[in-house]
Amino acid sequence: MQKRTALTLPLKRYGTSVRGARLEYIASQSRCDLLIVAGIHGEEPETTVALSRAVRSLAPEDVTPNVSLVLAANPDGLTLGTRGNANGVDLNRNFPSSNWQPQPTTCRWYADEEEELPILTGETPASEPESAALIKLIDTLRPRMVLTLHGPLACVDDPQKSRLATWICGETGLPLVSDIGYPTPGSMGTWAGERNLPWITWEFPPDGVEKICKSQVPTLVKILKGEAPLSP
Ligand SMILES: [Zn+2]
Repeated sequence: MQKRTALTLPLKRYGTSVRGARLEYIASQSRCDLLIVAGIHGEEPETTVALSRAVRSLAPEDVTPNVSLVLAANPDGLTLGTRGNANGVDLNRNFPSSNWQPQPTTCRWYADEEEELPILTGETPASEPESAALIKLIDTLRPRMVLTLHGPLACVDDPQKSRLATWICGETGLPLVSDIGYPTPGSMGTWAGERNLPWITWEFPPDGVEKICKSQVPTLVKILKGEAPLSP
């Protein structure tokens, strides 16, 4: 382990957010087997910190050459502290899946309470620069699998029950589910499923950053070191 406080791996730009922030990723050194995406929901900054800490736990040469990383897919939401982007759109409901809907969908104020608020899905599928750029990045990298980091539902969602998802559950003790339990029109996972792109949603537990870094980051580090099964 060579822990560092600063991120030293080079970041490449793949787009620009609504408010002009750089959308960036760390590129795999060779064929991209796995793309890991954090910070899609601005209210889940723990995912960005966890992925950053995992990268900073390793010497750059110890990161497996087959993984690409997006630390902050929604930089405006992370800056503003909002679930959606600067247009108020939930990026994870803005993907061009067959069930995308123009009407607002809902999200919970607290994950474990019933109260729901409307949230926009965008004027058209992939109307938001952050989702359009992420789709373009996926089309360019052509990863074999995508792993997205979320919180705080404490589970791993993978309808295909892939080897990687099963392995993450074994490492973290989180349950493997094939449905998150509520409708997600226009979600990235649904879009990916329709393209036969294996997609795993890793939902961190409802803990603070410190606790999550202890409970989840060691598993992320193993993935980055190439110790996890990276084939679907
Ligand atoms: Zn989320």
